[in-house]
Amino acid sequence: MARHREAVCRLCRREGIKLFLKGLRCFTEKCAIEQRNFVPGQHGQRRRAKMVGYGLQLREKQKTKRTYGLLERQFRNYFEKAARLKGPTGENLIVMLERRLDNVVYRAGLASSRAQARQFVLHGHVLVNGRKVNIPSYLVNVGEEIALKERMRQNPMVLEARNIAQSQAPWLEVDRDSLKARVVALPRREFVQTPPITEQLIVELYSK
Ligand code: SF4
Repeated sequence: MARHREAVCRLCRREGIKLFLKGLRCFTEKCAIEQRNFVPGQHGQRRRAKMVGYGLQLREKQKTKRTYGLLERQFRNYFEKAARLKGPTGENLIVMLERRLDNVVYRAGLASSRAQARQFVLHGHVLVNGRKVNIPSYLVNVGEEIALKERMRQNPMVLEARNIAQSQAPWLEVDRDSLKARVVALPRREFVQTPPITEQLIVELYSK
């Protein structure tokens, strides 16, 4: 499966905000946004031009896509699926992204970043209702129980994740001691506050 291979802090610097792609480091002063919050590259330190129109829409899409660790084609596919569902396309898109198994593992605080959560899933460490699921894009449903395998209990990466404050996910009932989370409701748009996303801009971009 293709994935992004560039240094991820550059992605945050390009968007000008923390996307929390690197786990514990994102909460320390080593974070690149804390140290050099300007666009990477030779001309990065020039004053940022005020963005409008297409530029604004593009940046919103890139920010969202990078937050969830997706490539362009995958993101576009989510958008097309969201457009076919009932209700506002932008909200459908965010809800669908939130339901991804790798995102749920991250939101539940069982991994310190979505990339790490994705690795846990791909390596077969994640169970859904007691059965191994190794597909990061699996969409969770209400009532499902997401758990890490017992042997992950003492894994240093999992222990580190438990010490990091995670964003709120009121639609998950999390038991961090037993490394489990239950999906008690489908995520709603208002539950997703990090990073701030204006999904309408993405809809406008893809509707051109
Ligand atoms: Fe790097 Fe995390 Fe800071 Fe982003 S938030 S610049 S990924 S350390």
